[in-house]
Amino acid sequence: MKKWLVFFYSITCILIIVTVVLFCINFFKERSAKKDIAEEEKKEEEEKNIIEYKANQTIRVKLCKTGEVVAMDINDYLRGVVPAEMPPYYDLEAIKAQAVVARTFTYKRIDAHAEGDGIDICDNYAHCQAFYNKDQIIAIWKRKGYDDETIKKYWNNVNEAVVSTQNEVIKYNGQLIKAFFHASSPVRTESVEEIWGGEKLPYLVSVENEESEDYDNRTSKVEVKFEDFVNKLKEDNNSRASLKTEDCKSVKICDYTTSGRVKNIQIANIKVSAEKLRTLFGLRSTNFTIEIKDNSLVFNVVGNGHGVGLSQVGADTYAKKGYSYRDIINHYYTGVQITKLD
Ligand SMILES: [Zn+2]
Repeated sequence: MKKWLVFFYSITCILIIVTVVLFCINFFKERSAKKDIAEEEKKEEEEKNIIEYKANQTIRVKLCKTGEVVAMDINDYLRGVVPAEMPPYYDLEAIKAQAVVARTFTYKRIDAHAEGDGIDICDNYAHCQAFYNKDQIIAIWKRKGYDDETIKKYWNNVNEAVVSTQNEVIKYNGQLIKAFFHASSPVRTESVEEIWGGEKLPYLVSVENEESEDYDNRTSKVEVKFEDFVNKLKEDNNSRASLKTEDCKSVKICDYTTSGRVKNIQIANIKVSAEKLRTLFGLRSTNFTIEIKDNSLVFNVVGNGHGVGLSQVGADTYAKKGYSYRDIINHYYTGVQITKLD
Protein backbone atom coordinates (compact mmCIF):
# COMPACT_ATOMS: atom_id res chain seq x y z
CA MET A 1 0.00 0.00 0.00
CA LYS A 2 1.20 3.42 -0.78
CA LYS A 3 2.45 5.50 2.12
CA TRP A 4 0.14 8.42 1.34
CA LEU A 5 -2.89 6.10 1.39
CA VAL A 6 -1.98 4.80 4.88
CA PHE A 7 -1.51 8.35 6.01
CA PHE A 8 -4.93 9.33 4.59
CA TYR A 9 -6.72 6.41 6.35
CA SER A 10 -5.02 7.21 9.66
CA ILE A 11 -6.08 10.84 9.51
CA THR A 12 -9.66 9.84 8.65
CA CYS A 13 -9.79 7.37 11.55
CA ILE A 14 -8.44 9.94 13.99
CA LEU A 15 -10.97 12.48 12.78
CA ILE A 16 -13.85 10.01 13.24
CA ILE A 17 -12.69 9.13 16.76
CA VAL A 18 -12.30 12.79 17.72
CA THR A 19 -15.78 13.58 16.35
CA VAL A 20 -17.37 10.72 18.31
CA VAL A 21 -15.58 11.72 21.52
CA LEU A 22 -16.59 15.36 21.10
CA PHE A 23 -20.17 14.33 20.38
CA CYS A 24 -20.28 12.19 23.53
CA ILE A 25 -18.84 14.93 25.71
CA ASN A 26 -21.36 17.40 24.36
CA PHE A 27 -24.24 14.94 24.82
CA PHE A 28 -23.45 14.30 28.48
CA LYS A 29 -22.83 17.96 29.09
CA GLU A 30 -26.25 18.87 27.70
CA ARG A 31 -27.92 16.11 29.64
CA SER A 32 -26.40 17.23 32.87
CA ALA A 33 -27.33 20.85 32.08
CA LYS A 34 -30.94 19.80 31.49
CA LYS A 35 -30.92 17.87 34.75
CA ASP A 36 -29.54 20.94 36.52
CA ILE A 37 -32.31 23.11 35.09
CA ALA A 38 -34.96 20.57 36.11
CA GLU A 39 -33.50 20.36 39.60
CA GLU A 40 -33.32 24.13 39.80
CA GLU A 41 -36.98 24.42 38.77
CA LYS A 42 -38.00 21.76 41.26
CA LYS A 43 -36.09 23.54 43.99
CA GLU A 44 -37.69 26.85 43.06
CA GLU A 45 -41.15 25.30 43.17
CA GLU A 46 -40.44 23.72 46.54
CA GLU A 47 -39.18 27.03 47.89
CA LYS A 48 -42.31 28.75 46.60
CA ASN A 49 -44.40 26.15 48.36
CA ILE A 50 -42.49 26.65 51.57
CA ILE A 51 -43.01 30.41 51.40
CA GLU A 52 -46.69 30.04 50.63
CA TYR A 53 -47.46 27.18 52.94
CA LYS A 54 -45.22 27.71 55.91
CA ALA A 55 -46.23 31.28 56.64
CA ASN A 56 -49.05 30.12 58.83
CA GLN A 57 -49.79 28.65 62.16
CA THR A 58 -49.11 25.14 63.35
CA ILE A 59 -51.97 22.82 64.18
CA ARG A 60 -51.87 19.65 66.29
CA VAL A 61 -53.78 16.84 64.60
CA LYS A 62 -54.62 13.61 66.39
CA LEU A 63 -54.48 10.57 64.09
CA CYS A 64 -57.14 8.36 65.65
CA LYS A 65 -55.88 5.06 64.22
CA THR A 66 -52.51 5.28 65.95
CA GLY A 67 -53.29 7.84 68.65
CA GLU A 68 -50.31 9.84 67.41
CA VAL A 69 -50.50 13.67 67.54
CA VAL A 70 -48.79 15.37 64.60
CA ALA A 71 -48.02 19.09 64.50
CA MET A 72 -48.24 20.59 61.04
CA ASP A 73 -48.73 23.82 59.16
CA ILE A 74 -52.41 24.71 58.81
CA ASN A 75 -52.18 24.76 55.00
CA ASP A 76 -50.55 21.33 54.92
CA TYR A 77 -53.41 20.17 57.11
CA LEU A 78 -56.05 21.70 54.82
CA ARG A 79 -54.40 20.17 51.74
CA GLY A 80 -55.01 16.84 53.45
CA VAL A 81 -58.61 17.59 54.45
CA VAL A 82 -59.98 18.95 51.17
CA PRO A 83 -59.30 15.86 49.00
CA ALA A 84 -60.34 13.58 51.89
CA GLU A 85 -63.75 15.28 51.99
CA MET A 86 -64.48 16.13 48.32
CA PRO A 87 -63.91 14.18 45.07
CA PRO A 88 -60.82 15.60 43.28
CA TYR A 89 -62.53 15.76 39.89
CA TYR A 90 -65.00 18.43 41.04
CA ASP A 91 -64.72 21.94 39.61
CA LEU A 92 -61.93 24.09 41.07
CA GLU A 93 -64.43 26.67 42.42
CA ALA A 94 -66.26 23.90 44.31
CA ILE A 95 -62.93 22.70 45.73
CA LYS A 96 -62.08 26.27 46.80
CA ALA A 97 -65.46 26.53 48.56
CA GLN A 98 -64.63 23.26 50.36
CA ALA A 99 -61.24 24.68 51.37
CA VAL A 100 -62.83 27.78 52.95
CA VAL A 101 -65.46 25.61 54.67
CA ALA A 102 -62.73 23.28 55.99
CA ARG A 103 -60.64 26.23 57.24
CA THR A 104 -63.66 27.75 59.01
CA PHE A 105 -64.52 24.41 60.60
CA THR A 106 -60.90 23.99 61.69
CA TYR A 107 -60.59 27.40 63.40
CA LYS A 108 -63.92 26.86 65.11
CA ARG A 109 -62.51 23.58 66.44
CA ILE A 110 -59.27 25.20 67.56
CA ASP A 111 -61.35 27.74 69.52
CA ALA A 112 -63.27 24.91 71.15
CA HIS A 113 -60.01 23.27 72.24
CA ALA A 114 -58.55 26.51 73.56
CA GLU A 115 -58.43 25.14 77.10
CA GLY A 116 -55.82 22.74 75.77
CA ASP A 117 -56.05 18.97 75.83
CA GLY A 118 -52.88 18.90 73.76
CA ILE A 119 -54.66 18.62 70.42
CA ASP A 120 -56.56 20.95 68.12
CA ILE A 121 -58.46 18.52 65.91
CA CYS A 122 -58.71 14.80 65.05
CA ASP A 123 -58.98 12.90 61.77
CA ASN A 124 -62.24 11.08 62.54
CA TYR A 125 -64.69 12.42 59.95
CA ALA A 126 -67.70 11.77 62.18
CA HIS A 127 -66.12 13.75 65.03
CA CYS A 128 -64.01 16.45 63.33
CA GLN A 129 -62.83 16.22 59.72
CA ALA A 130 -61.35 13.51 57.56
CA PHE A 131 -57.61 13.96 56.91
CA TYR A 132 -54.99 12.02 54.93
CA ASN A 133 -51.39 13.03 54.36
CA LYS A 134 -50.20 13.60 50.80
CA ASP A 135 -48.73 10.10 50.36
CA GLN A 136 -51.99 8.51 51.48
CA ILE A 137 -54.03 10.69 49.11
CA ILE A 138 -51.77 9.90 46.14
CA ALA A 139 -52.03 6.18 47.02
CA ILE A 140 -55.83 6.39 47.13
CA TRP A 141 -55.93 8.14 43.76
CA LYS A 142 -53.56 5.52 42.29
CA ARG A 143 -55.82 2.74 43.54
CA LYS A 144 -58.71 4.50 41.79
CA GLY A 145 -56.73 4.17 38.58
CA TYR A 146 -55.85 7.83 37.93
CA ASP A 147 -52.67 8.22 35.85
CA ASP A 148 -49.70 10.38 36.91
CA GLU A 149 -50.78 13.34 34.79
CA THR A 150 -54.28 13.34 36.32
CA ILE A 151 -52.92 12.96 39.85
CA LYS A 152 -50.63 15.94 39.27
CA LYS A 153 -53.57 18.01 38.03
CA TYR A 154 -55.76 17.05 41.01
CA TRP A 155 -53.01 17.82 43.50
CA ASN A 156 -52.38 21.20 41.85
CA ASN A 157 -56.08 21.99 42.18
CA VAL A 158 -56.01 21.13 45.88
CA ASN A 159 -52.94 23.37 46.32
CA GLU A 160 -54.55 26.20 44.43
CA ALA A 161 -57.80 25.89 46.36
CA VAL A 162 -55.96 26.17 49.68
CA VAL A 163 -53.38 28.81 48.69
CA SER A 164 -55.64 31.13 46.68
CA THR A 165 -58.11 31.30 49.59
CA GLN A 166 -55.37 31.58 52.22
CA ASN A 167 -56.67 32.84 55.60
CA GLU A 168 -60.25 33.19 54.34
CA VAL A 169 -63.01 32.05 56.71
CA ILE A 170 -66.79 32.36 56.88
CA LYS A 171 -68.31 34.56 59.59
CA TYR A 172 -71.80 35.58 60.64
CA ASN A 173 -72.05 38.72 62.76
CA GLY A 174 -68.31 38.63 63.27
CA GLN A 175 -68.29 35.02 64.59
CA LEU A 176 -66.99 31.93 62.81
CA ILE A 177 -69.97 29.90 61.55
CA LYS A 178 -70.70 26.22 62.15
CA ALA A 179 -69.66 25.23 58.64
CA PHE A 180 -71.75 22.09 58.14
CA PHE A 181 -71.67 20.45 54.74
CA HIS A 182 -72.90 17.21 53.18
CA ALA A 183 -72.60 15.25 49.94
CA SER A 184 -75.94 15.78 48.23
CA SER A 185 -79.46 17.00 48.88
CA PRO A 186 -82.02 17.12 46.12
CA VAL A 187 -84.18 20.24 45.62
CA ARG A 188 -83.46 22.00 48.95
CA THR A 189 -80.95 21.90 51.79
CA GLU A 190 -82.19 21.50 55.37
CA SER A 191 -82.55 23.95 58.26
CA VAL A 192 -80.27 22.90 61.08
CA GLU A 193 -82.95 22.71 63.82
CA GLU A 194 -85.08 20.35 61.72
CA ILE A 195 -82.32 17.75 61.83
CA TRP A 196 -80.80 18.09 65.29
CA GLY A 197 -83.38 20.16 67.13
CA GLY A 198 -82.02 22.98 69.28
CA GLU A 199 -81.69 26.57 68.25
CA LYS A 200 -82.28 27.95 64.77
CA LEU A 201 -79.20 29.43 63.14
CA PRO A 202 -79.95 32.26 60.71
CA TYR A 203 -77.18 31.18 58.34
CA LEU A 204 -78.17 27.49 58.30
CA VAL A 205 -81.65 27.69 56.84
CA SER A 206 -83.13 25.65 54.01
CA VAL A 207 -82.15 27.03 50.59
CA GLU A 208 -82.85 25.96 47.04
CA ASN A 209 -80.37 23.43 45.76
CA GLU A 210 -79.70 22.55 42.15
CA GLU A 211 -77.98 19.23 41.53
CA SER A 212 -77.21 17.61 38.23
CA GLU A 213 -78.61 14.08 38.32
CA ASP A 214 -75.62 12.26 36.91
CA TYR A 215 -73.62 11.97 40.13
CA ASP A 216 -72.67 8.61 41.64
CA ASN A 217 -74.45 7.50 44.79
CA ARG A 218 -77.15 10.16 44.57
CA THR A 219 -79.95 7.60 44.84
CA SER A 220 -79.81 4.44 46.90
CA LYS A 221 -82.01 1.68 48.25
CA VAL A 222 -81.93 -0.04 51.63
CA GLU A 223 -83.98 -3.15 52.34
CA VAL A 224 -84.61 -4.13 55.99
CA LYS A 225 -86.41 -7.30 57.06
CA PHE A 226 -89.43 -6.65 59.32
CA GLU A 227 -87.81 -8.62 62.11
CA ASP A 228 -84.52 -6.72 61.93
CA PHE A 229 -86.35 -3.41 61.75
CA VAL A 230 -88.32 -4.07 64.93
CA ASN A 231 -85.37 -5.57 66.80
CA LYS A 232 -83.10 -2.63 66.08
CA LEU A 233 -85.76 -0.13 67.14
CA LYS A 234 -86.26 -2.02 70.40
CA GLU A 235 -82.52 -2.28 71.06
CA ASP A 236 -82.20 1.45 70.53
CA ASN A 237 -84.91 2.40 73.01
CA ASN A 238 -86.68 0.36 75.71
CA SER A 239 -89.87 2.35 75.32
CA ARG A 240 -90.41 0.52 72.04
CA ALA A 241 -90.49 -2.93 73.68
CA SER A 242 -94.13 -3.55 72.73
CA LEU A 243 -93.41 -3.45 68.99
CA LYS A 244 -94.26 -6.57 66.96
CA THR A 245 -93.04 -7.73 63.60
CA GLU A 246 -96.49 -7.41 62.01
CA ASP A 247 -96.57 -3.71 62.99
CA CYS A 248 -94.21 -3.16 60.08
CA LYS A 249 -97.04 -3.78 57.62
CA SER A 250 -98.61 -0.46 58.59
CA VAL A 251 -95.45 1.68 58.81
CA LYS A 252 -96.11 5.13 57.42
CA ILE A 253 -94.50 8.55 57.09
CA CYS A 254 -96.06 11.03 59.57
CA ASP A 255 -94.67 14.40 58.57
CA TYR A 256 -92.06 16.20 56.54
CA THR A 257 -89.57 18.98 57.22
CA THR A 258 -89.88 22.31 55.38
CA SER A 259 -87.38 21.13 52.78
CA GLY A 260 -89.46 18.00 52.06
CA ARG A 261 -87.41 15.44 53.96
CA VAL A 262 -89.13 12.90 56.20
CA LYS A 263 -89.31 14.16 59.78
CA ASN A 264 -90.95 11.20 61.56
CA ILE A 265 -92.40 7.82 60.73
CA GLN A 266 -95.03 5.94 62.67
CA ILE A 267 -95.01 2.25 63.56
CA ALA A 268 -97.96 1.04 65.67
CA ASN A 269 -98.52 3.99 68.01
CA ILE A 270 -94.84 4.93 68.17
CA LYS A 271 -93.17 7.82 66.36
CA VAL A 272 -89.55 7.48 65.29
CA SER A 273 -87.54 10.38 63.85
CA ALA A 274 -86.20 9.94 60.35
CA GLU A 275 -82.77 11.10 61.54
CA LYS A 276 -82.78 8.16 63.98
CA LEU A 277 -83.66 5.78 61.14
CA ARG A 278 -80.87 7.27 59.05
CA THR A 279 -78.25 6.39 61.64
CA LEU A 280 -79.77 3.05 62.74
CA PHE A 281 -80.20 1.63 59.25
CA GLY A 282 -77.44 3.43 57.40
CA LEU A 283 -79.79 5.38 55.13
CA ARG A 284 -77.84 7.96 53.13
CA SER A 285 -80.39 10.70 53.84
CA THR A 286 -83.81 11.34 55.35
CA ASN A 287 -85.22 12.07 51.90
CA PHE A 288 -86.90 8.71 51.30
CA THR A 289 -90.09 6.86 50.45
CA ILE A 290 -91.03 3.57 52.11
CA GLU A 291 -92.19 0.54 50.16
CA ILE A 292 -93.54 -2.60 51.84
CA LYS A 293 -92.33 -5.66 49.99
CA ASP A 294 -93.05 -9.21 51.23
CA ASN A 295 -91.50 -9.22 54.70
CA SER A 296 -89.26 -6.22 54.22
CA LEU A 297 -89.33 -2.45 54.27
CA VAL A 298 -87.61 -0.87 51.29
CA PHE A 299 -86.28 2.68 51.71
CA ASN A 300 -85.78 4.48 48.39
CA VAL A 301 -83.37 7.26 49.27
CA VAL A 302 -82.35 10.37 47.33
CA GLY A 303 -79.38 12.47 48.40
CA ASN A 304 -76.51 11.73 50.73
CA GLY A 305 -75.90 13.21 54.17
CA HIS A 306 -77.80 15.30 56.74
CA GLY A 307 -78.63 18.03 54.22
CA VAL A 308 -77.43 20.99 56.34
CA GLY A 309 -75.18 23.70 54.85
CA LEU A 310 -73.17 23.32 51.66
CA SER A 311 -74.08 20.48 49.33
CA GLN A 312 -70.95 19.20 47.58
CA VAL A 313 -72.81 17.89 44.52
CA GLY A 314 -74.71 21.19 44.41
CA ALA A 315 -71.46 23.18 44.76
CA ASP A 316 -70.01 21.35 41.76
CA THR A 317 -73.22 21.84 39.78
CA TYR A 318 -73.25 25.58 40.49
CA ALA A 319 -69.50 25.88 39.80
CA LYS A 320 -70.03 24.31 36.36
CA LYS A 321 -72.71 26.94 35.74
CA GLY A 322 -70.14 29.68 36.40
CA TYR A 323 -70.60 30.39 40.13
CA SER A 324 -67.40 31.40 41.97
CA TYR A 325 -66.51 29.80 45.32
CA ARG A 326 -67.76 33.01 46.98
CA ASP A 327 -71.12 32.76 45.18
CA ILE A 328 -71.36 29.12 46.28
CA ILE A 329 -70.61 29.90 49.93
CA ASN A 330 -73.03 32.83 49.97
CA HIS A 331 -75.69 30.62 48.43
CA TYR A 332 -75.54 27.87 51.07
CA TYR A 333 -74.83 29.98 54.16
CA THR A 334 -77.38 32.78 54.35
CA GLY A 335 -76.14 36.28 55.21
CA VAL A 336 -72.51 35.38 55.90
CA GLN A 337 -69.28 37.27 55.18
CA ILE A 338 -66.10 35.74 53.81
CA THR A 339 -63.27 37.52 55.61
CA LYS A 340 -59.53 37.13 56.09
CA LEU A 341 -58.28 36.13 59.51
CA ASP A 342 -56.28 38.82 61.29
ZN1 LIG B 1 -62.28 15.19 66.74
